Amino acid sequence: MLEIKNLHVELEEEGKQILKGVDLTVESGQVHAIMGPNGSGKSTLSYVLSGRDGYTVTDGEATLAGEDLLEMEPEERAAAGLFLAFQYPVEIPGVGNMTFLRTAVNAQRKLRGEEELSSGDFLRLIRAKAKTLKIDADMLKRPVNVGFSGGEKKRNEILQMAMLEPKMCILDETDSGLDVDAMKLVSEGVNALRSEGRSFLVITHYQRLLDHIKPDVVHIMADGRIIKTGGPDLALEVETQGYAHLLNEEA
Ligand code: ADP
Ligand code: MG
Ligand code: MG
Repeated sequence: MLEIKNLHVELEEEGKQILKGVDLTVESGQVHAIMGPNGSGKSTLSYVLSGRDGYTVTDGEATLAGEDLLEMEPEERAAAGLFLAFQYPVEIPGVGNMTFLRTAVNAQRKLRGEEELSSGDFLRLIRAKAKTLKIDADMLKRPVNVGFSGGEKKRNEILQMAMLEPKMCILDETDSGLDVDAMKLVSEGVNALRSEGRSFLVITHYQRLLDHIKPDVVHIMADGRIIKTGGPDLALEVETQGYAHLLNEEA
């Protein structure tokens, strides 16, 4: 599903190297977690994959289902099935949640050469998804994320994910600052959306999230590289022993 080879990335402005040869393969249907100390390049990796400005890829490649991601515009990446969930979801005053989602869904369909959903079909779809995810119909009418609680923002993000039906979902520290209930909510949403044709990359500081979202593979990132890969046990090891011994091993 996602294949990253020898990815090297610099900050465009300063020419500072952030990613120093990242290799990562996520198979279809798998959930991978990335953990690692602050500043190791986890967010940079997700930004570069989604096509955010300000970064220069100096070497390596990244493909989504065989398509060259790095050649695509951000909206093409999204239409190809990439979804990035932010640490801090953006509020969009004046734009209703429903309108926002319908615009996003149809923009992606258009880019894929598919017919746009009629308002009737869209309504049926969003009601069905909201019901499955136990999302209140009231939330669909409110402006995007405005005045939403932390938990509601996360719930809304899961709804966006459900509506856009991405192949590859990246969650960048989407659990930070959440209380236990909200974290559970995110996990349940992700678990409900797990399927054979959909993969997840979950970036997190906390083993706690991985108790609920059971990853197939856990990677540790440090100083712009993946320094260790293992099973769920690796996350437990980090929780009890921290990163220091892994960094020493690497050195
Ligand atoms: P992580 O998500 O693992 O905490 P980041 O990808 O946010 O790491 O950051 C990696 C390194 O790149 C850090 O040293 C950070 O300060 C630097 N960095 C990332 N983006 C920028 C930017 N736009 N301007 C300056 N430094 C940046
Ligand atoms: Mg950070
Ligand atoms: Mg980060």
